[in-house]
Order: sequence, then structure tokens, then C-alpha cells
Amino acid sequence: MSSITEFLEKEKPSGYTGKMLKELSKLNEELNAFNNIADSLGSGMPFSVKDNICVKGIETTASSRMLEGYIPAFNATVVQRMLDSGFSFIGKTNMDEFGFGSFGLNSTKPARNPFDVRYVAGGSSSGAAVATSILKYHVAIAESTGGSISTPAAFCGVVGFTPTYGALSRYGLIDYANSLDKIGIMARHADDVRSVFDKVRGADAKDTTSIEGEYRREVSKKIILPDQLTKGIDEDVESGFARLVEKLEGMGYKTVHRSIPFIDKAIPAYYTIAMAEASTNLARYSGFKYGYRNEDFTQHYNQFFTNARERFGLEAKRRIVLGTFVRSASVRDEYYSKALKVRRLLIKELGKALQDGFILSPVMPIKVPTFEEVKELTALENYKMDVMTIPPNLCGLPHVSFPYAYHKGMPLAAQLVAGHWGDHAVLGIVEEWERHFDYKFKYNIGEL
Ligand code: GLN
Repeated sequence: MSSITEFLEKEKPSGYTGKMLKELSKLNEELNAFNNIADSLGSGMPFSVKDNICVKGIETTASSRMLEGYIPAFNATVVQRMLDSGFSFIGKTNMDEFGFGSFGLNSTKPARNPFDVRYVAGGSSSGAAVATSILKYHVAIAESTGGSISTPAAFCGVVGFTPTYGALSRYGLIDYANSLDKIGIMARHADDVRSVFDKVRGADAKDTTSIEGEYRREVSKKIILPDQLTKGIDEDVESGFARLVEKLEGMGYKTVHRSIPFIDKAIPAYYTIAMAEASTNLARYSGFKYGYRNEDFTQHYNQFFTNARERFGLEAKRRIVLGTFVRSASVRDEYYSKALKVRRLLIKELGKALQDGFILSPVMPIKVPTFEEVKELTALENYKMDVMTIPPNLCGLPHVSFPYAYHKGMPLAAQLVAGHWGDHAVLGIVEEWERHFDYKFKYNIGEL
């Protein structure tokens, strides 16, 4: 039974929600999953919202000092649809500033991994994954541009689903890169993801890129393993993944190795497009209309602007500089236009490969890293870690990350990708997997 149905059917002892929120607030001091937690909770299934998605009357900062104190006057479409479906809002979840990052460290207060606080929670939807891992009954509304759902879900041992681009309205999302941003869902089980997805998806007049998709629900038994993605990866990830493949074969899946043209060009193409779009999106935070404003109007224009712009963290500043460069007139053809071509080619190649099957890979080439390990990575090494999560994100393909084993107490996870509108089909495989595997959680806050 889905945990949503279970939650709604179970009798709640008196004072249940108050006690649960208190326990959650206490644990949050250690894990930093939430940027803010609701004071009270309705009787619906609790849902959290990543802090770059607007909730009316609730501070929404995208974990940036730039947006401190911003209180939206409206709900994002997906939030409104959750409320209309009877879910109860529980809080805003922590993230890398504006979605920039893979490990959750680009937040003013990085989230910690619930399995062991020495390890990172993954990013950028770090808080959404931690919240899902510690709350017994809860679903998270998160967002991915290039892997921000798959990675944290993998590190925290939960199911992370990124739908086909356009399946969910982006109205009310604080944009990172509009042509890549997708709102998605995390939960402890795939059937909860499916039921939330069916409630929130669909065209929305407020977002012209959202559409009613023609979903392909049939589940193929063919799994494609792109060898290029698994070269030179961590040994434990490699051997764990090989065991998963064997188990899937035992469940009747047929696996084939295939090389996918241009897949190795996905990272440079993605970061070029993402940074170009991010730099234009961040231009609005000047202190005049949007963003932090120092109210001293006697200052020189340049100083006023600088006061606002210095609120950005280091990674945001790096992306503004690189993004502005790649779309500047003198080099645009060399970088930005070329990246768009690579994206088109890759959409074609992946589309061909996914015609009658699914792509399976680990989620990251490394095991869950510690804070110390991540701090040692250069910016470029950081970006290269997204080698498996970027191709489906760049091409707007639906994908799910799910835990398949535990190594020294930390989860190992895999990512399944389907062709466009194969959202239900890809969730179907994970649902089948769950019947053969027991997910582990260290906390069960709100257990009944
Ligand atoms: N790590 C990628 C980036 O920094 C993806 C982040 C995301 O999906 N928001 O761009």
C-alpha cells in the first residue's frame, strides 16, 4: 500500500502533529534539512517544498542571502495543486544557492546526511532528500536542472523522480536555467511518487512550456548500459552496480551494452547552456526591482548595485562570469551555439537508444563523499561528477534514482532513464524493484 493511503487511513493519537513538528525541528538543528518549518500542520499527508519554489506567505530564498526576507504573494502552480489535492505543507527545504551545485555545500548552512553527518546530503535539492529520508510520511517537491533530484535522493537513500521537461508547470519556480529546469518529486517509495505526479502534472496557462503529455506506459524489459558512463568509476560503485544488473537479469530484464554518440559531450554542453541562462536570470537581482536592497539612496549607483550583487555566493558569481562570457557576441558561436547543437544531437541519439528500452547507470561515479572530500574538489572536478545525471536532464528525459544496496551503512543508487513521456513506465520498473528490496532509513519521524 502507498504510504499516502496508509497515512490517511491510520488513526492519529491526540497531539500527533505538534509532537512530530517538535521532533522534526530538533533533528533539523543537526541536519539542516529545512530552511523553515511550518508552525502547524493540517490533517493531509505532509509535503515539503524546495526553497526555490514559491509558497504564499512563506519566506522563499533559494538558500541565497540575495533573497533573504522575500515572501511570495502567490503559490507556485505545483504547490497550489498539492494543497488542492489535500496535502499539508510542512516546510521549505534547504538547497545549493539557486540550484548551483551537486553536493549541497553551496548553501549558507549545508544539509548533512541522515545516515551519518560526516557525509554530504547531495545537491542541489539536499534538504528535500534529507526530509524524505527522516520523515515516515512525507513527499517532497524538488527541482532538477542537471541532476539535483537524482543525486541527493541517491545519497540519502530515497526515490528521486525527474519528469519529462514540460510535464509539470514551472510557474512559481525561481529560475536557474529555464530550458533545463524541471520540478520533480521525492518519496520513500515509487508508488507515492506516481500518485503525486498524477495529481500535479499537466498543462498550466501560467507556464506556456507545460503541456499535457502523451504518456507511454508500457514497460519494456530491455535495459541499455552505456559503457562510456561507467569507465574509471569508483570500484565499490562498479561492483555494486554489476550486482544490480545481475539481479535485474534475474528478474527477467535483458541487458545490452551500447555506446551512445555524443554522450561524453553532455557535460560541457550542459554547463555552457546552464550558465548562459543562469547569468541572465540572475541579472534581475540588482536591488532595484528584485533582490537585496540597501535603503541608503544617497549612494552612488555603482555602490548601490555592488551592495546587492555581493550577496551572491562564490559559485553564483562564478556562473555569472562564465555565463556572461559564453554568450558574449565575440565567442557565442564557439560556445553557446555549439552547445545548443550538441544538445540537439544528443536528444536524437538518446531518443534512438530509448525507443524500445531504458538506460541504466549508477547516479554518480563516486560513493557518498564526506564534507572533507567535497571541499577538496576543484570547480571542474565538481562539474564532472554530474556525468551520469546530466544527459537525461540536458535532453528533458524522465528519470528515477533509487537505492539498490548499502555499502558500509551508506546507500548506493542507480538511475533509470526512459524516452520522453515514459514517466510512468520508468516508475513502474522501480515499483517492481521495490518488491525485491527493503529500503533502510535511520529515522522515522511521525511514525504511527
Ligand atoms: N550540479 C548541477 C549544476 O550545478 C545540477 C544542479 C541542478 O540540477 N540544479 O548545475
